[in-house]
Amino acid sequence: MSTYFRSWMDEPMMNPESNTLNEEYARGIVEFMQVAGNQPRVQKSGKLICPCSICQNSRNVRVEIVWHHLYSNGFTPGYKIWYLHGERNYDYGSTSEPTVSDSLGDRTEVDVCVGTD
Ligand SMILES: [Zn+2]
Repeated sequence: MSTYFRSWMDEPMMNPESNTLNEEYARGIVEFMQVAGNQPRVQKSGKLICPCSICQNSRNVRVEIVWHHLYSNGFTPGYKIWYLHGERNYDYGSTSEPTVSDSLGDRTEVDVCVGTD
């Protein structure tokens, strides 16, 4: 079982066996709409940038229509950080950075060489 950050976006939105909407995907859409709906701009205008695979964040669409688009078109592939919808600096992937002590050791050696020259 592999569950990683917003893995639902990489999965098929339809369940091939039952031909219904994938549960993970449906939950993901709800999550997205909550994040996007928190923006004052969206609350005021009732519109938001549609991240469906057809609009691809290029159209401002009424909230009800965005629901519809996401259910029928699917999400734009790879749009995992919803920076156009009020999300920023999502903290993920930081655990895979190289260890600090290793790079510090390299730097010290370089510094010594430069200093004696
Ligand atoms: Zn759309």
